[in-house]
Amino acid sequence: MTIRQQVEQLKSGSISAEDHLKKYLNAVEQNKNLNAFISVLSARALQKAREIDDNLASGKSTGRLTGIVVAVKDNITIKDTHVTCASRIIENFKSPYSATVIERLEAEDALIIGKTNLDEFAMGSSTENSAFGAVRNPNNPAFVPGGSSGGSAVSVATGMSHVSLGSDTGGSIRQPAAFTGVVGLKPTYGRVSRYGLVAYASSLDQIGTFSRSVEDSACLLSVIAGRDEKDATSSPNPVPDFLSPMNSSIHDIRIGLPKEYFGKGLDREIKDNMDFYVEKLRQSGAKIKEVSLPHTEYAIAAYYIIAMAEASSNLARYDSVRYGYRSGGKNDLLATYQNSRNEGFGEEVKRRILLGTYVLSAGYYDAYYKKAQQVRRLIKQDLDDVFESVDCILTPTTPTTAFKLGEKIDDPLSMYLMDIYTVTANLAGICGINIPAGKDKNGMPIGLQLMAASFREENLFRIGRAIELMRETDHA
Ligand code: GLN
Repeated sequence: MTIRQQVEQLKSGSISAEDHLKKYLNAVEQNKNLNAFISVLSARALQKAREIDDNLASGKSTGRLTGIVVAVKDNITIKDTHVTCASRIIENFKSPYSATVIERLEAEDALIIGKTNLDEFAMGSSTENSAFGAVRNPNNPAFVPGGSSGGSAVSVATGMSHVSLGSDTGGSIRQPAAFTGVVGLKPTYGRVSRYGLVAYASSLDQIGTFSRSVEDSACLLSVIAGRDEKDATSSPNPVPDFLSPMNSSIHDIRIGLPKEYFGKGLDREIKDNMDFYVEKLRQSGAKIKEVSLPHTEYAIAAYYIIAMAEASSNLARYDSVRYGYRSGGKNDLLATYQNSRNEGFGEEVKRRILLGTYVLSAGYYDAYYKKAQQVRRLIKQDLDDVFESVDCILTPTTPTTAFKLGEKIDDPLSMYLMDIYTVTANLAGICGINIPAGKDKNGMPIGLQLMAASFREENLFRIGRAIELMRETDHA
């Protein structure tokens, strides 16, 4: 069922919001082995569900997401609730306020079922960097679900929530969506308020959605998008109607295939699957053309320099003085800082703080950070040029399908290379979406990525919907 159909059913009274929620709570219980949730907010959600049932019974009008069960990545705040970011350093911290996205969801009567597991501070591509243990792929628990929003992806893939929220700094929504076979949307930078999203790399971070269908992705974005006074980088651009243009024909729509995205490192099966859909799109009247993004080969390097630089600055706030984990023992100030941060942060986070501090330090700043910013500008320029002649870019979401737990954890570089096709959208601030498109010979999901110019999410939904229909009707 889509959100629209589910809301209709709940409003008709054929099932109560409370009973509806209980089905999801059961699913959470049944899928415990996947470790997708850090906390389950049953009492809070049940109370909201009863309020909705009371309102429905007394004929009051209810919101666009009446009774829709949503899971939320545990780096997005909910008032008076833990927000751990999967880190020991703020394991016991409760947020004094709710993120704007949470307020918008609850104003439309959504039910928030719990907080999902992630790579610590959203740093990773497999959800193995969590202080609370790795998340597992529902298609095969020996495999990773992708990351960093692995818990949110798994929650939707297994029906523990109808939809979920994640954050995407370099691919953390699109990549786990691809690995678990769901739709994952990274909206344009500024489309959705980041107020209440714990910062990783502020110029790249964006909140987005996971869903089973493209329609639900559009529906959820309509609710969370739009200007927010509390986030100065949120855009005043009006939020269009994403739902109605979604089903219009893709005849004459122009789709670009960047030649740099199909070279070495790309799985044969993913490439073949891609060719299948390209042919289908062509048959539907889309104009397919090869395009070039010449600076692609520098994207990973630029991304990891910028992301780590910003992370080192953002994570300086965890000083153990005002809040968060504090190491016992020593009572001099410097030792307290050092020990608390050393004990509180995990390995990957520490690696990034060190590297980020290094690239920002005097003497290295010009060689690394400044260069990376210049490359970022060139990557943006490549995309601006391409979007002069196409409505959308189609690429694989990931070079391989899901890998085994433990396979890359000791090799950060090979882990970073998983993000090769996704970081571009964050560096340029444009929007991107993962559309599930079949499975490989091991039964692991394959994803296609669509990218569109800033604030053109409607193009993603329209072409994404077309691909979804092709998959449903006649996959080879
Ligand atoms: N895998 C990338 C990283 O580790 C992206 C993470 C994200 O988008 N939050 O930085």
